[in-house]
Amino acid sequence: MARTDYYATLGVERGATDAEIKKAFRRLAQQWHPDVNTDPAAAERFKELNEAYQVLSDPDRRHRYDLFGAAGVEADVAAGFGGFADIFDAFFGAAAGGARRGRPPTGSDLRYDLRITFEEAVLGTEKEIEFPVLGRCDTCGGSGAKPGTEPTTCPQCNGRGEVRAVRQTMLGQMVNVTACPRCRGEGRIVETPCETCRGEGRTERRRTLRVSIPAGIDEGHQIRLSNEGEAGLRGGPPGSLYVAVHVTAHPSLKRDGTELVYEARIGLAQAALGTRIEVPTVEGHEEVEIRAGTQPGTEIRLRGKGVPHLRRPGSRGDLHVVVDIAVPTRLSRDEREALQAYARAADEPVSEGGGLLERVKDKLA
Ligand SMILES: [Zn+2]
Ligand SMILES: [Zn+2]
Repeated sequence: MARTDYYATLGVERGATDAEIKKAFRRLAQQWHPDVNTDPAAAERFKELNEAYQVLSDPDRRHRYDLFGAAGVEADVAAGFGGFADIFDAFFGAAAGGARRGRPPTGSDLRYDLRITFEEAVLGTEKEIEFPVLGRCDTCGGSGAKPGTEPTTCPQCNGRGEVRAVRQTMLGQMVNVTACPRCRGEGRIVETPCETCRGEGRTERRRTLRVSIPAGIDEGHQIRLSNEGEAGLRGGPPGSLYVAVHVTAHPSLKRDGTELVYEARIGLAQAALGTRIEVPTVEGHEEVEIRAGTQPGTEIRLRGKGVPHLRRPGSRGDLHVVVDIAVPTRLSRDEREALQAYARAADEPVSEGGGLLERVKDKLA
């Protein structure tokens, strides 16, 4: 790309104000628009004007261009300025047709990914989060106007934010209602921009917030904090902050909605004779009785030890203890003798003596 001096393209000084840039662009755009200029070079010239204006009219891009030259805005140019490829989108506001007129645009929504423990998700918690955000400029209070000055009502649209353009076409007269080009549809204009925010009305800062995480929240849930997103341009309303919750898995508890499941592995003799085991819950360990004669797959329900219902306060799921019985795979000599004695007593025919290795070990013992 040969022409990269955007100021020269628009014929303005490097220190030109936003208003001067806009004025220069408007004059040149009207002169070079391919619809009105039949010069074959008009389209190319118009494209250059558009590119220069897209860079110089955006405070952030202009800042990068001033610092780094064309390299600072290369990506924006290559991307066609996020889809604003044509003057009627960028300047006359066709793309902003759906936006509310007569006020500055709303700030962007933000997303914050927050990791919490399994217990915190079940019981609820409060977390402090810190994140970078474009907040309202303290110098100008968000208006974008230099302190001591005020944004003024746009003289072109009288603050309505839209203009009617009458065009003669082959089919007759057409009336187009578009966002006011002078004030970008905002109804007000900043004549003397605030120096801190270059007229944007917002600056980058870090924000700290305490977020309340309700009991029962689950992986993938989002908490919306309205007005905690990016500040709008020139005093526009702020966007929302979405806190996306991620829950670390528990080593032994599994969750299914409001129900918790714990798989308890007990021994043969424990199942037959009964015992007491420690079951982990989100509030600490709990002792649970395993009755004599408990079968594999038996479920013991600890009522109200599950997960609180997110939308029904006071309602809470259960913790299901599912009993699994571990059949030993390697027996010591004592264990085998005890089991053989049991088999004889219970009249259960069993294989002789276990595996080869055990028999060898017995001989050595
Ligand atoms: Zn400011
Ligand atoms: Zn206006």
